[in-house]
Amino acid sequence: MLGAANLPLNELLAHFGYIVSILMFMVGIMLMGRVKTAKNGNRLAAGAMLLAVIAQLVQMKTIDPVWIVVGLVVGALIGAVASIRVQMTQMPEMVALFNGSGGLASLLVAVAAYAYGGIPSQPLAGATIAGSRGDVNGLAVMLSILIGGVTFTGSIIAFLKLAEKMSGKPILLPGRHAVNILLAVLVAVFIALGVWVLGGGVGLALLVLVILLSFIMGITLVIPIGGGDMPVVISLLNSYSGVAAAMAGFALGSHVLIVSGSLVGAAGLILTQIMCKAMNRSLANVVFGGFGAEAATGGGGEYKNVKSADAETAAMVMADAQSIIIVPGYGMAVSQAQHAVRELAKLLEAKGASIRYAIHPVAGRMPGHMNVLLAEANVPYEQLFEMDQINEEFKSTDVVLVIGANDTVNPAAKTDKTSPLYGMPVMNVEEAKTVFTMKRSLGGGFAQVKNTLFECPNNFMIYGDARKTLEEIAKAVKEG
Ligand code: NDP
Repeated sequence: MLGAANLPLNELLAHFGYIVSILMFMVGIMLMGRVKTAKNGNRLAAGAMLLAVIAQLVQMKTIDPVWIVVGLVVGALIGAVASIRVQMTQMPEMVALFNGSGGLASLLVAVAAYAYGGIPSQPLAGATIAGSRGDVNGLAVMLSILIGGVTFTGSIIAFLKLAEKMSGKPILLPGRHAVNILLAVLVAVFIALGVWVLGGGVGLALLVLVILLSFIMGITLVIPIGGGDMPVVISLLNSYSGVAAAMAGFALGSHVLIVSGSLVGAAGLILTQIMCKAMNRSLANVVFGGFGAEAATGGGGEYKNVKSADAETAAMVMADAQSIIIVPGYGMAVSQAQHAVRELAKLLEAKGASIRYAIHPVAGRMPGHMNVLLAEANVPYEQLFEMDQINEEFKSTDVVLVIGANDTVNPAAKTDKTSPLYGMPVMNVEEAKTVFTMKRSLGGGFAQVKNTLFECPNNFMIYGDARKTLEEIAKAVKEG
């Protein structure tokens, strides 16, 4: 803070704004760690973003602030319309697009920093960013472009896969490892040349080459990943978008961008680790493995001795049950059955049953997908249990209600070495006395493999839309 007294008032106010905004980001992300406080955390982080933009406006004198205000208004409008319109089931695609936008924004900021030699009110050390020897800002510019570009095209591919606009299966190009190594070496050489050796027109050409290579690398990174590994890719890309922003922060000398980008980068990396652990895979195996490319069994598979039940029978069994565990999956999100589940649970509780919800870490299509839906339906937080906490409890449970979950309850993941799901920890639902599985058909889940749960002697399929089925069961329970 030495010399702060010499700063003009607008600079002083701006720096104060940046510090408050950084603190708000940090507290915001802490609050997001718990369901109860997550909404406030989100609001606080959004407020921090607005404050950072206002502080930048206060600080700037030479750039026309109109452009920033226009950007703010257009960005806010797009964000508001997208968040109002998007269906809960389309959230993962939206997250992928937002990650990609973050990556592209960092890339563009770095290009602008290169073109202008820095934001005028915050002159960069070294006037020519990429070009002067040992120039740290030059390295930050290049890395921001590289990581931003990879995040951008990688997220577009992830979006296309999740939106089923291209095959969700891993696409394995011949010689892909050699291609990836070649791309990595080339980009490292171009960056080194661009930062330390060359400047001027050649520097610009190298910058353009790094942009092109980063776009290609984003595609080659995500194309071989698919099936159940997509959650890992999404959180990894989320982490990349944060790192790209932090690098852009270094290029601009913006502390608030460095801190907020690092927070996103670190949070994304921690989430990636959690996802890998949940799927019993290493990150290297997910990124380079191309696991599940030749999914042995198609979605339908050959099923034998599958039993089914109707809503009335299920209601009768449940009304007599002492302990019930509800296992939601992606189908609950599709049918928007969370409120119907909660209503049925209340009726069964009134009849004396204990109700618990078992949440698999990769159930649904995004981290925390089931928690968000159940919180929306006001399911008490104490009734939610992580897989590790509840997996031993199934064997002493009367009834398990599987609502549109498939891959996450597939016992083949424990026994069938040829299954693309092999090794992923799953819910031991088949150990309960009776299992009711609600879905519309015997069709596959995200990984498109046969589910051996459906053939278990204690499992009964209840075919149909999950919400409708739950409403019918609730009606039957009420009518006694
Ligand atoms: P799955 O995706 O394995 O299966 C969902 C099931 O829901 C389908 O088999 C479908 O069967 C059923 N379904 C669809 N619509 C309805 C409806 N209206 N009513 C009732 N059922 C319906 O779900 P899980 O949650 O068990 O597993 C998630 C999978 O997604 C995992 O493989 C995971 O790796 C992957 N994934 C997870 C992400 C995450 O971050 N959580 C991100 C990306 C992928 P039917 O058509 O017969 O009704």
